[in-house]
Amino acid sequence: MAERSFDLAVIGAGPAGMAAATSAAEAGLRTLVIDEAPRPGGQVYRAPPAEFLPQGTDADRRIGDELRTALAESGAELALDHRLWWIGEGFELAAVGPGGPHRFSARALLVATGTTERILPFPGWTTPGVIGLAAATILLKADGVVPGERVVVAGAGPLLPLVAAKAVAAGASVAAIVDLARPSDWASAVIRGRSRPDLLARGAGWLRRLAMARVPWWSARAVVNVSTTAEGLSIDTLAVNADGEPQPGTRRKIGADALCIGHGLVPSTEVTRLLGAAHVFRPEVGGWVADVDELGRTNVPHLYVAGDAAGVEGAAAAPLAGRLAALAAVHDLGRLDATHLARRSDPFVARRRGVARFGKAMAGLARLRSGLLDAATPDTIICRCEDVTRAEIDGAIDTGARDVNQLKAWTRCGMGPCQGRMCGEAVGELVGAQVGGRAQAGLWTGRAPLRPVPLEDLVGGYDYADIPIPQAAPL
Ligand SMILES: Cc1cc2nc3c(=O)[nH]c(=O)nc-3n(C[C@H](O)[C@H](O)[C@H](O)COP(=O)(O)OP(=O)(O)OC[C@H]3O[C@@H](n4cnc5c(N)ncnc54)[C@H](O)[C@@H]3O)c2cc1C
Repeated sequence: MAERSFDLAVIGAGPAGMAAATSAAEAGLRTLVIDEAPRPGGQVYRAPPAEFLPQGTDADRRIGDELRTALAESGAELALDHRLWWIGEGFELAAVGPGGPHRFSARALLVATGTTERILPFPGWTTPGVIGLAAATILLKADGVVPGERVVVAGAGPLLPLVAAKAVAAGASVAAIVDLARPSDWASAVIRGRSRPDLLARGAGWLRRLAMARVPWWSARAVVNVSTTAEGLSIDTLAVNADGEPQPGTRRKIGADALCIGHGLVPSTEVTRLLGAAHVFRPEVGGWVADVDELGRTNVPHLYVAGDAAGVEGAAAAPLAGRLAALAAVHDLGRLDATHLARRSDPFVARRRGVARFGKAMAGLARLRSGLLDAATPDTIICRCEDVTRAEIDGAIDTGARDVNQLKAWTRCGMGPCQGRMCGEAVGELVGAQVGGRAQAGLWTGRAPLRPVPLEDLVGGYDYADIPIPQAAPL
């Protein structure tokens, strides 16, 4: 398989990756962008097929189109619909695309892989009809599909009113918003986020739509159980305290045919973990992140991280972080001297600090409330890939598992196709509670494949008859 070489490979074509690749290509680096999505945009500017929505009416659509146009004109090469699954030393990259497997190499690597949803399991969370809150944005934005006709939207953070308002606009009925935060949490987030009145105004628009549709908003409450009835889902909720601990005697039930539930976003660190970069635990930006300087440099030479993968700062800060990391790469590869690096990066550093304040305020609303795990009973599945229950995890901890890697080896939790992206937060919290905190519980070592890859794509078609059978060894 022929390998193609680049100066810089950017993983992820969200706002951080698009801006980074555009800057790097404009500065003369041979730049490659890899993304598993069919179009650039990432999560927030995910582009629906052109025939789905009226063009140019939506602010996200307009900003996304500007970034896409700049990228297309920059000369960067795009490998879309390509899942990156392996990275070797010196930045050898293996991806699977529509035409099968592809190999690339790059002198520098810029990771802009964004986030994944934080999943906190409770009894019934794997029931059909229960989906992630962020996943619901994909259904609504990219596929033009409502998750159900009667929907409950639950969890924490700004995706709650966004998903509920989009569901209402798409014709669904929202039975209730079940919010972990209290009104005072929202008030302080709005005060902290006042640097972006335009984004606050957008949020106010969602609230107006929800008020007009008379959507009930249940504050300081959590979903603690989901079961199925002939009518659909039966959803149990309890009031929670500030740590998310459910309060007995406060049960309220509600029926729906879909539950969209999410507890915030977690930076995607699988690439930097695989490459052995140093990481730090920073709960205020989502948890474990690569330890980077202001320009996004890790301690691994020529390895950079930008956007939410380096800590959740939101969509407005991501392109600025992308440009900064690209400038660092251009300098480190010898195309920009230190004086020009400082002159060009300083304004982006200042602007990023300003807009990141808004993103961090919103991320704070969806901070991890560890008491929520009290709802997970012994037979609740924690790792749905490997069917590992809470009882098995508690048992391994009681037997002496002292960090998440030990627990993984003992239970297979986190070894399935998602490589711990779904169970990682719950496992980290459960181990952390016994060993003095999340930082002490550690983070999972990175392992290939970064994404599930069909074996057929890697080895091609084969016939069992062609597999050589070794001769028996003479005694
Ligand atoms: C599911 C989801 C929905 C969201 N919806 C919204 C929203 O509606 N509004 C909002 O303001 N914020 C939303 N957010 C948050 C928002 O995504 C971020 O604030 C912002 O997009 C960060 O930009 P980014 O460039 O850092 O990462 P992202 O936009 O997340 O882009 C990362 C890109 O990396 C690609 N990628 C990751 N790993 C691989 C791999 N191994 N191989 C190939 N490609 C890979 C992904 O396909 C993705 O396109 C959402 C987050 C998630 C996870």
